[in-house]
Amino acid sequence: MLGTKVPASRINDKIQQYLKDFVICPECKRPDTKLEKDDNVTFIKCSACGAKHAVKVRI
Ligand SMILES: [Zn+2]
Repeated sequence: MLGTKVPASRINDKIQQYLKDFVICPECKRPDTKLEKDDNVTFIKCSACGAKHAVKVRI
């Protein structure tokens, strides 16, 4: 059973990372964003400041 348990802190890290990558605007740090897909690139588009950033997505 060793190694089957993932520490809660690690899960939280992943959620934080997800929020940082896909929800929070890198410019104004607001969560008022939408994901837009253009060819193989996904962008995070901010409704608050209009910033658009490509996000790294591994599918
Ligand atoms: Zn913004």
